[in-house]
Amino acid sequence: MEVVKSVKDMAELSKKLKKEGKTVGFVPTMGYLHQGHLSLVECSKKDNDITVLSIFVNPIQFGKNEDLDRYPRDIERDIQICQSHGVDYLFVPSVEDMYPEGYSTYVVVEGITDVLCGAYREGHFKGVATVVNKLFNIVKPDRAYFGKKDYQQYLVIKKMVEDLNMDIQVVGCPIVREKDGLAMSSRNKYLSPEERQSAVSISQALFKAKELFEKGETNPQTLTEVIKETIQSQPYVKEIQYIQIVDPKTLKTKEKAEKGDIIAVAVFVGNTRLIDNIEL
Ligand code: AMP
Repeated sequence: MEVVKSVKDMAELSKKLKKEGKTVGFVPTMGYLHQGHLSLVECSKKDNDITVLSIFVNPIQFGKNEDLDRYPRDIERDIQICQSHGVDYLFVPSVEDMYPEGYSTYVVVEGITDVLCGAYREGHFKGVATVVNKLFNIVKPDRAYFGKKDYQQYLVIKKMVEDLNMDIQVVGCPIVREKDGLAMSSRNKYLSPEERQSAVSISQALFKAKELFEKGETNPQTLTEVIKETIQSQPYVKEIQYIQIVDPKTLKTKEKAEKGDIIAVAVFVGNTRLIDNIEL
């Protein structure tokens, strides 16, 4: 495996791979890798000749009071993990290289970014779309892999690729969970053992709601109330930001839950903001 640190080197490398006729799969991440990230690597390895994984904690997608400075990082460990899981190139650009002085171009996907996380994290998806667009231009992948754990992000990238006629296939991969159901996330590291226990209620609540739906309950209010009660009963839950049942394509809220809809939640456990979702 080769670690590529500069934008110029990565761009040259991807040009060379294209010339050689190699197909490139790309997995963009913010590092502190876990099984969720590795599931994307597995998918990419199956579909492509070459797999590129990037690690870049993108400053422009964090709000002023968010966790940019304390976001978990361990590059040495990540290099080992990538090496032992068959990543071909690990791209780790610096902030200065990605956003040199005078940087002034941004990508805005309208509509679907107004709801769910977009309503609470101003500018977040503008930062995400911008960095992913830049990474796509540098890595020039044939396919790019995104986890449905960040369902809204996956849709935003799909929309950007479609609207801007980018010749890239965006592949959405299933949520990887811990044994007890908690969705894997680099941010789980922030949780104390007690908070970790409270956090399990998020996935348990989603499973419960899905079970009720499968038994015939289609009223979004009833379903979200069950989720709210389950999560709120936990001592370390500080705030539920949203619980919404939405259309899987438009993210519009539903008057009646249907198969294929997404129940999405964002919850603060202690000071840690966790998101999760389930497909009905
Ligand atoms: P992050 O490093 O958190 O920005 O995530 C990088 C990519 O990994 C994104 O496409 C995420 O959706 C995906 N990802 C993160 N956690 C999981 C998970 N538990 N299951 C599946 N994909 C995930």
